[in-house]
Amino acid sequence: ALPVIYAITPTYSRAVQKAELTRLSNTFRQVPRFHWIVVEDSNTRTELVSRFLARSGLPYTHLHILTPRRYKRSGMPRATEQRNAALGWLRTHRTRTDSGVVFFADDDNTYSLELFEEMRSTRQVSVWPVGLVGGRRYERPLVENGRVVGWYTGWRPDRPFAIDMAGFAVNLQVVLRSPRALFKRRGSQPGMQESDFLKQITRVEQLEPKAHNCTRVLVWHTRTEKVNLGNEPKHRQDPVLIEV
Ligand code: UDP
Ligand code: MN
Repeated sequence: ALPVIYAITPTYSRAVQKAELTRLSNTFRQVPRFHWIVVEDSNTRTELVSRFLARSGLPYTHLHILTPRRYKRSGMPRATEQRNAALGWLRTHRTRTDSGVVFFADDDNTYSLELFEEMRSTRQVSVWPVGLVGGRRYERPLVENGRVVGWYTGWRPDRPFAIDMAGFAVNLQVVLRSPRALFKRRGSQPGMQESDFLKQITRVEQLEPKAHNCTRVLVWHTRTEKVNLGNEPKHRQDPVLIEV
């Protein structure tokens, strides 16, 4: 059987949340052998996300952990606790005999179906280009003779792994074999989350290039415009309570 793709999606309550999750689920529903790990940045499993997942038709696990308020500042890495909660779940609910691939799928990015075909064969850690990121049209690993030898990036090229969260996948067994590999808050500079994590589980020479030696963009770091709610009524006018 194909290895299961575990997509880890941190998500938080805001006007566009359900729209983002809808877009994502419409993509993920077309991916065979897929398991969605949704981690809410919240004190509880919210009604909105619970109902949404139950109706999504996808196999899923619904977790939650609130980001401490002191970490909710701009310039600080986002969703550290949520991604770690998902890694913790995998480590307690999956074993040596389960075959799978773990991928970090933020709720606002855009994913092609081909991307999942590419990552499915990840033996340790695989990498590929990401579009619309780092102040460029794309960033990508530079590949020579099938090995990653550097990074095409416009931002902090000194990063050991100059790659976005959406640019790599990890074999489930690597996650289980490195039980202490986590995303870090302490000592982690903005934009270094990926490098800090990957350093704990692999080396650049071992990375497996996907997407035709990293020459095709199959995922985009899109960001959704902030919604204008300037005309919302001050007091509730619509007699019906409507979930958006
Ligand atoms: N996120 C979260 N809590 C927050 C901010 C973001 O759980 O307070 C999630 C968000 O839903 C997304 C991921 O963390 O899945 C990355 O956040 P965002 O897309 O805002 O970051 P960027 O696009 O700047 O990398
Ligand atoms: Mn984003």
